[in-house]
Amino acid sequence: MEYTFAPPVTISVPVVGSDRQFPVHRIYCVGRNYEEHAKEMGHSGREAPFFFIKPADTIVYAAPGTTAHMPYPSMTANLHHEIELVVAIGTGGRNIAAADAARHIYGYAVGLDMTRRDLQNEMKKQGRPWCIGKGFDHSAPIGSITPASDVMGIDHASISLTVNDQKRQSSTIAQLIWNVAETIEQLSMAWELQPGDLIFTGTPAGVGAVVAGDVMQGDITGLSGIRVTVVAA
Ligand code: MN
Repeated sequence: MEYTFAPPVTISVPVVGSDRQFPVHRIYCVGRNYEEHAKEMGHSGREAPFFFIKPADTIVYAAPGTTAHMPYPSMTANLHHEIELVVAIGTGGRNIAAADAARHIYGYAVGLDMTRRDLQNEMKKQGRPWCIGKGFDHSAPIGSITPASDVMGIDHASISLTVNDQKRQSSTIAQLIWNVAETIEQLSMAWELQPGDLIFTGTPAGVGAVVAGDVMQGDITGLSGIRVTVVAA
C-alpha cells in the first residue's frame, strides 16, 4: 500500500525525566473555567462546561531552558495569551466518573491557549464557530509533560504568566470552576477520550494582548515552565 503523499508526522511532546515522547491525539480546551476570567469576558457564575478543539499540529513545543518562537498570526490585531494547566490523558474511556478520573491521567504540562481575540469576538457576535479565533497555526505552545506520579498537589498549584517580566495572570488551580476530575467526567460524556488527548483546562483572569518581541513566561508549581517569544511573521 502506498500513500498518495507522505503522511503527516506524529505530533508529540517530550516527557520530563525520560527520553519518551507523548504522542498527541486531540487537543480539547475548556472555555471560561475560572470565575474571574468569566467575569472579565462579560459572563458570570458557574455555567455548564463547554469545549472547543485545536488541531494537534498547532502545538509549539517549549523546551526547558529555551525560548520557543511563536510567529505572530495572520488576520489579527489582538493576539491574547491564556495560561492554562494541560492534562495529558494516558488511558481513554467514555463516561468516566469524576471519582475515577485520576487513573486516566498520564501527566500535566503548562500550556498557552493563544487566541485571536478580535476574530473570536466577531465570530461570537455572529454566532459562528470559534475555529478561526482559537485553532490557528502555532496557537498551542506547551512545555514538557510531567508524569502525574511525579506531581504533588496539582489541584492547589499556583499558575502564573508574565509578559516581559510583568505579571499578567496569577491564580491557583483550586480556582477552577470545574476541576480536572469534573472536566474529564463532562468531556468524556461528549467524546470518547483516547490515549494522547490533551485537555487545556481554562485560563484565569488577566488575559491580554501580546505583540512581536514580547516574551511570555508561564509557570505552574511542580511543572516544567515555558518561555515563548512572539516573532514577526
Ligand atoms: Mn482558554
